[in-house]
Amino acid sequence: MSLLVVGSVALDTVETPAGKAETVLGGSAVYFSAAAHRYTPVRLVGVVGEDFPAEHRDFLKSMDVDISGLITQPGETFRWHGRYEGAMNEAETIRTDLNVFGDFDPALPEDFRDSDFVFLANGVPAVQMKVLDQVTGPTLTVADTMNLWIETTREDLDRMISRIDVLCLNENEARMLTGEHLLARAARRLMELKLKAGVIKKGEHGMTLATPGATFALPSFPEENVSDPTGAGDSFAGAMMGFLAREGRTDPASLMLAAAHGIAMASFTVGGFGPQHIADIPLEKVEERVHQLRAVCTF
Ligand code: AMP
Repeated sequence: MSLLVVGSVALDTVETPAGKAETVLGGSAVYFSAAAHRYTPVRLVGVVGEDFPAEHRDFLKSMDVDISGLITQPGETFRWHGRYEGAMNEAETIRTDLNVFGDFDPALPEDFRDSDFVFLANGVPAVQMKVLDQVTGPTLTVADTMNLWIETTREDLDRMISRIDVLCLNENEARMLTGEHLLARAARRLMELKLKAGVIKKGEHGMTLATPGATFALPSFPEENVSDPTGAGDSFAGAMMGFLAREGRTDPASLMLAAAHGIAMASFTVGGFGPQHIADIPLEKVEERVHQLRAVCTF
């Protein structure tokens, strides 16, 4: 089934204890696509400026990502500068230059409107809703969000959440959104929002998947060589949704297996800088890690 992502396409500068990457390809829609394309073709909607290098466009095309929804506008591409320290569980944003992304008004190409699986990467909730207005009958809609929108556009965010099936957020954002310190309670509160599922990402501690019937948890894959966690959340979502779109399933057991794929993929993402190094990872290697994860969780 078809898979659509709408989100940022960026030029990132990232500093971690392992090194620094300057003005490299990034953005949530790019990391999502690099992970998802191993499972199923991806349709991408985003915006870049006139400075966006042709080689990055070629990279997206090389993954068979349909970039007919990637528009170029006068001005500069979105730039994000982040730094990670210690266990690298959360990025410290040093600088965000929205540039053309600040006026992002997603217009879906006519042949993207029938997309079955839709991922709204982190962004302004009102803009995320504009995408929901344009899709004609999606099977599963999943959105990511962040503390900024919880703090500044709560009403829009609540409205957006009431229109989607699955919400992804990190543990502190789950606490902030629900007002609950204990994640077990936060997971239950997410279910009161009438979602099909809530995904709470916990960095090196894995994730919690809340569904109306049960709450599941998975550890992260024990990867010891973490170079750059940028894009871990988006590539998690990319593998999870790529798997679901390929299988055409949305039941809780499939969501759980899909999340295991997300965790396995994200463990490759954090092993190097930028999205390029995950684009070529054979699916068998991801599946191998899913099996290893299963072994870790079985007792
Ligand atoms: P993740 O590490 O999965 O949360 O996503 C990292 C990517 O998100 C980076 O490549 C950034 O370019 C992008 N990013 C950072 N801040 C924002 C923002 N405010 N809106 C959209 N994308 C962002």
